[in-house]
Amino acid sequence: MSAPHALIAGAGIGGLSAALCLARAGYRVSLFDQAEALEEAGAGLQLSPNASSILRRLGVLERLLPSSLAPRAVRIRRARDGATLCVLPLEDAEKRWGAPYLLAHRADLQRALLDAVAREDAIKLHTGAAVAGFLSGADGVAIALRKGLIRLEASGDCLICADGSRSLLREKLPGTRPGALRFSGRTAWRALVDARCAPPEMLRAETSLWLGRKAHLVHYPLRGGTVVNVVAIVEEDFRADGWSTEGCSAFLAERFARWDTAARNLLAAAENWRKWPLLDRDPIAHWTSGRVALLGDAAHPMLPFLAQGAAQAIEDAAALGGALSRDRNVERALLAYQAARQARATHVQQASRRQGVIYHLSGPAALARDLAFRALGGENMLARYDWLYDARGGEAA
Ligand SMILES: Cc1cc2nc3c(=O)[nH]c(=O)nc-3n(C[C@H](O)[C@H](O)[C@H](O)COP(=O)(O)OP(=O)(O)OC[C@H]3O[C@@H](n4cnc5c(N)ncnc54)[C@H](O)[C@@H]3O)c2cc1C
Repeated sequence: MSAPHALIAGAGIGGLSAALCLARAGYRVSLFDQAEALEEAGAGLQLSPNASSILRRLGVLERLLPSSLAPRAVRIRRARDGATLCVLPLEDAEKRWGAPYLLAHRADLQRALLDAVAREDAIKLHTGAAVAGFLSGADGVAIALRKGLIRLEASGDCLICADGSRSLLREKLPGTRPGALRFSGRTAWRALVDARCAPPEMLRAETSLWLGRKAHLVHYPLRGGTVVNVVAIVEEDFRADGWSTEGCSAFLAERFARWDTAARNLLAAAENWRKWPLLDRDPIAHWTSGRVALLGDAAHPMLPFLAQGAAQAIEDAAALGGALSRDRNVERALLAYQAARQARATHVQQASRRQGVIYHLSGPAALARDLAFRALGGENMLARYDWLYDARGGEAA
């Protein structure tokens, strides 16, 4: 009997991970991305153990390790004077959660996944091929493809829509009633700073999180400490498509004018700011219909305040592979995938939202938050993430 055939729309972190997991589950995989060339774009990613454990199993982590960095801690600082509020120790991350906590560049992760995909005979990647629609029937699923001016068709046993937060395929899934994707009122600005130009304290192998009024700042060294990844989140009205609108540094200089000198010096050292609007959407009730399922941002776009967008897409991929390898009845397996993932992903979506509110508090509420962080201390703060990072339960194990 020939291997079952999975179609995947979207070769981002989610689609690439899903292709690898489905190939492991015994599927032949056709992976389509609308982009002519997969853009090695984006900024740093925090790869928590719940995701790094899966990448290790897929043979991807070993390719990523040379360019990634294991931070020793997360340091939370107060914006106005740089005071440290709390240090969450990460030295024992692997012992505590069963897999490493890593800092990596999104482009490096994408390349490591693409390398693994290229080595897998069961996966065929088609770029410049947009999935425009689908028809799911009792015996299989057919998709319509657009390749430039050419219209093509393909068919398979299931379709996985991993076409990102602006997913068009999600809109076509019967029964999803997706709420509108809305602008959260915040933008993310990112830049890479050459380590030679960065203030020395910014080169520590740590993730630093600065909390200020209606803004926060995250930075950490990347690529063997040769660059510092800087992400500034500000409350700002800005609506645009894509990840790479050019940002004007004078705006940030003004917005962070009252912040501690060290933070301002880091921002001043950055060139080539890119910014994108942070989008949010309420969780949806159904991720699957018949032989079609959503995965990654298409299923659960989330605000980045828990740094879980990529990690949750990777968890989806592992759960999907597990479900389809256990049950050859595709429709039942897709429902099992949804059952395994939906509550957790929704919980992460909602927790990310709450985290954003806490980060941007001002006045007495911010004072109370800072006192609470100090009182709790790093070890207790760390324990609050066990539910999220622990790689020893479920498909991540
Ligand atoms: C270029 C880029 C840069 C990013 N940079 C950052 C960043 O700096 N920080 C951050 O937190 N997150 C970033 N992200 C998002 C982050 O990677 C995702 O939130 C997370 O990895 C979940 O990934 P995903 O695979 O679900 O979606 P995505 O990573 O968005 O991937 C979706 C893929 O689907 C493709 N696609 C869309 N529609 C179709 C279609 N109809 N047919 C075929 N293919 C289609 C897209 O070309 C894309 O490759 C970026 C995403 C992209 C695409």
